[in-house]
Amino acid sequence: MSLALPAPAPTARPPDTPDGLDLIGFARHAAARLREADAPLYKLLAREAARQNETLMMVAASSVADPSVLACSGTSLSNLTAEGYPGARYHAGCEVADEVERLAADRACSVFGAREAIVQPHSGSSANLAVITALLNPGDTLLGLDLDCGGHLTHGSPASLTGRYYNAKGYRVTPDGFLDYGQIRELALAHRPKLLVCGASAYPRTVDFARFREIADEANAFLLADISHIAGLVATGLHPSPIDHAHVTTTSTYKQLYGPRGGLILLGRDAHRPGPGRGSLAATLRRAVFPFTQGTPDLASIAAKARALDFVAGPGFAELAQRLAAGAQAIAERLAARGLRVVTGGTDTHMVLLDLRGTGLTGDIAEQALESCGIVVNRNRVPGDTTPARVTGGLRIGSNTLAARGMDRDEAAACADLVADVLEAVRPDEQSGHVLAPAVQARVRAAVAELCARYPLPAYAPRHRSGEGSAP
Ligand SMILES: *Cc1c(COP(=O)(O)O)cnc(C)c1O
Repeated sequence: MSLALPAPAPTARPPDTPDGLDLIGFARHAAARLREADAPLYKLLAREAARQNETLMMVAASSVADPSVLACSGTSLSNLTAEGYPGARYHAGCEVADEVERLAADRACSVFGAREAIVQPHSGSSANLAVITALLNPGDTLLGLDLDCGGHLTHGSPASLTGRYYNAKGYRVTPDGFLDYGQIRELALAHRPKLLVCGASAYPRTVDFARFREIADEANAFLLADISHIAGLVATGLHPSPIDHAHVTTTSTYKQLYGPRGGLILLGRDAHRPGPGRGSLAATLRRAVFPFTQGTPDLASIAAKARALDFVAGPGFAELAQRLAAGAQAIAERLAARGLRVVTGGTDTHMVLLDLRGTGLTGDIAEQALESCGIVVNRNRVPGDTTPARVTGGLRIGSNTLAARGMDRDEAAACADLVADVLEAVRPDEQSGHVLAPAVQARVRAAVAELCARYPLPAYAPRHRSGEGSAP
């Protein structure tokens, strides 16, 4: 039922802030209030900001958000309860929220050439769970890349509900680390999955989404493309796009989109075809996010996604994406030249996988040694790895944050040299297992400090602190 209302009176605005409250003043006031009200927590947060500025972040699953993205997360949108979708909420007070969410979805469609975008998933994992629960009934078969070959937990690992409540089958990479489309087709035809999943967490090479769709069609399966790691390369055309090949595409927003924690669901040419539920595929997926797997969306995070997507659409991003791809190639080349084994022999993305088996090192020892020098990477299984997930026989290295700091090929190669220097300086030790040569540690620490000072996190520098700095 609708209610006819009198026309609203114009709202009074504070004279000096034509668009509402002064957010710059608010942010400064909010941080000062935190420091005053909760010194221990403030100190931790300040320490973390310093740590990020002073270390070389080379975790492939991470990036660094522009301060304008972080600013969105700290606004009063976070106070809003807004179950439902724009124009169809279950709460009042959503006039602004609706506009923010529509803006985020429009930007996502524009950046990826998608027809529909669902911007509410709290994470990439939540996005995948929504898609899987929407398209499959419990017990149905899904086929994804095995976890130890670079797949993600939510692609059917037994450690995830996707491997517990569904009949999850896995395909594997070849011994040298490449996807084997012949094997994927054979498995798809043998198992007849309802859903074929492509995309990975630890795969450095191009994924042939068109080939995956051919296989999915032949096996009569839906195709989910998870581009969490390569979304920035896809957005800029440096990696082929799955949007019109896959029935559904998902991504996290904090990796290569340089955004907040969160996820996106994107649909291309199949968006409006009938879904397995009521209405179109897009309508089915929207219901799968809310109310099936999530409650109220995080509107502050959706605003931050909108901001990150505008950053991705902006003038500097194509250059950043090129720099991160070139940086990863330089890292792969330099590590190989230093005698280390690079899985697949190189990379087409931001990611380099290093196989440490045969060096006497495990992934966890290497990770610790590097961290003690200010280089942050993560241990990772490599194809054929039989070591436990906490140990691993490899490392995964990424160039997203190096590129955002403005580092080009040469600096990325210098970072790779530092990695190799550290790995070469770790020796077995009777008492403690392994030791890192103190002289090497001191030299690498100094080199890291110098690089971090020369290439500060973009727009995080003090001159931007008072709000007069320009966005990068
Ligand atoms: C990181 C990742 C996810 C999960 O994203 P979260 O936002 O961390 O939940 C899903 N799929 C792939 C391939 C990923 O690499």
